[in-house]
Amino acid sequence: MVGSVLVATAFPSILLHDAFNSRQAYAYTAEIAGFGERWPGSPGHRKTENIIRQVLQKDGAQIESDDFMATTPRGPIPVHNIIGKFNVSANPKQRIFVLAGHYDTLFKPGFIGANDGASSTAILLAFADALAHQKTGMQIWLVWTDLEEAINDFKGNDGLYGSRHLAQKLAAKRSVSRIRGLFLLDMIGDKELNVARETGSSSSLQVFIAQAADQLGYAGYFFKYDANIIDDHVSFIKVGVPAVDVVDAEYGRMGPSFDSMGEFHHTNGDTMDKVSQHSLEVVGRTILLTVELLDKQD
Ligand SMILES: [Zn+2]
Repeated sequence: MVGSVLVATAFPSILLHDAFNSRQAYAYTAEIAGFGERWPGSPGHRKTENIIRQVLQKDGAQIESDDFMATTPRGPIPVHNIIGKFNVSANPKQRIFVLAGHYDTLFKPGFIGANDGASSTAILLAFADALAHQKTGMQIWLVWTDLEEAINDFKGNDGLYGSRHLAQKLAAKRSVSRIRGLFLLDMIGDKELNVARETGSSSSLQVFIAQAADQLGYAGYFFKYDANIIDDHVSFIKVGVPAVDVVDAEYGRMGPSFDSMGEFHHTNGDTMDKVSQHSLEVVGRTILLTVELLDKQD
């Protein structure tokens, strides 16, 4: 008898952070920046919502939305937070980890926010792709917050509209105690990556991020300076969720003639030539390894 025997070799198990595809993350960033202005109600905003839902569907997430009407200095504005849940078990006490970022952009003619808006939206899409075939003990929520940007400026309740609503909803549902933590990604596509040690953030979670960055040889990109930033993480910290703003708060040259977050922050110069695949890779892999480290602990 002549025959051949196929020997099944076991697939080497891929780690979550190795499943992160930075090329795809960059492609998503370019696609979203290409939609143009993405303030709530704009065609670009609608296109962004569509791609988020398409990717979540393809990746097998449980999709939820948090829709409401915000009262703003511009009048009422419809807001749509989008949530994709992965690895949800039957255990009602299963712990939750949240990775979040805003997908809206400033109300500013010509502003496309390649870094401020597109990069955070895109890295979460690449996280969805990585999570599609990866088991974790905690359930992982990807949260795209809407209307993070202030209408006029970050004073009083102007800004953080979507995150504030969602955080208060979680608090009302008594879900907060199940949430192990939240990482907010913002402006992390910057070619000259330099992630701040955000001083309002959970320092015990920052320790895990530093450990992961160290393991991957990326320590030089993280926590070399302090900054206090008003961002969506504040909404969650206020209801008791330990949260870290993973934010590059130095965008372009710094100095008295520029915005406090740098030359390109909130300017129409926030374009794709300022964003790199490498920065997305550094942040994406580091954050997913941090999730793995926390998952092992849980
Ligand atoms: Zn912004």
